[in-house]
Amino acid sequence: AVAITGLNKWFGSHHVLRDVDLTVRRSERLVICGPSGSGKSTLIRCINGLEPYQGGRIALAGTRLDGHREAEMARLRTGMVFQSFNLFAHLTVLENCTLAPIHVRRMGRHRAEDLAMDHLTRVRIPEQARKYPGQLSGGQRQRAAIARALCMAPEIMLFDEPTSALDPEMVEEVLGTMVDLAQSGMTMLCVTHEMGFARRVADRVVFMDEGQIIEIAPTDAFFRTPRHERTRAFLGQIL
Ligand code: ATP
Ligand code: MG
Repeated sequence: AVAITGLNKWFGSHHVLRDVDLTVRRSERLVICGPSGSGKSTLIRCINGLEPYQGGRIALAGTRLDGHREAEMARLRTGMVFQSFNLFAHLTVLENCTLAPIHVRRMGRHRAEDLAMDHLTRVRIPEQARKYPGQLSGGQRQRAAIARALCMAPEIMLFDEPTSALDPEMVEEVLGTMVDLAQSGMTMLCVTHEMGFARRVADRVVFMDEGQIIEIAPTDAFFRTPRHERTRAFLGQIL
């Protein structure tokens, strides 16, 4: 679904992504972990077309992403869920979900609303459709953000620490939604430190440090026999 080769990015003189190669196959689930500042969010944002990069290439479903129009295409064909809720506060949950289908996909309002209700049901918050984001719990807001992304029928869902701003009791409901999504065959790339989730759904786990992919391995091997000292040190800290 996504093929990244030789990706390099600088913020000024700071080299934040160094020769990153990564392929996510269709229906594959990848978890990315690594210390703060290692470039995880930047990598996800490059795939989503939110950040320009200076070297290498990213192809989404075989189409190369660079230049202005391609960045826009990346935003339309990848679903992104951030750490802090990125819903429009002045629109209801339903309106958040139908906005892009109606205005970008030119879908009729009724069809867009039916589609949105299907996805809100799928993430188990159909009863919240007419409320505003401010009236929802953190976990419900994050599930609304997932439903909104699904309404655009993305090629891949990108998650950037979707549970790290949540109260502990809400983490499980969002992870549960992500597990459901994984079981439905969605292609997923998730930055998360929820290693229980990684063990349950990830096909492979990626460890990043200082802008590089240090290690990438099938989930079982990643946890059982990490090959690199830095991976072992990191896992030792968080497990
Ligand atoms: P965290 O776990 O804390 O979210 P991360 O792995 O997601 O960290 P990034 O946010 O990708 O890390 O940041 C990678 C590096 O790039 C960091 O050193 C950060 O300070 C720097 N950086 C990120 N965004 C910008 C920006 N807009 N301008 C300048 N430097 C940036
Ligand atoms: Mg980050």
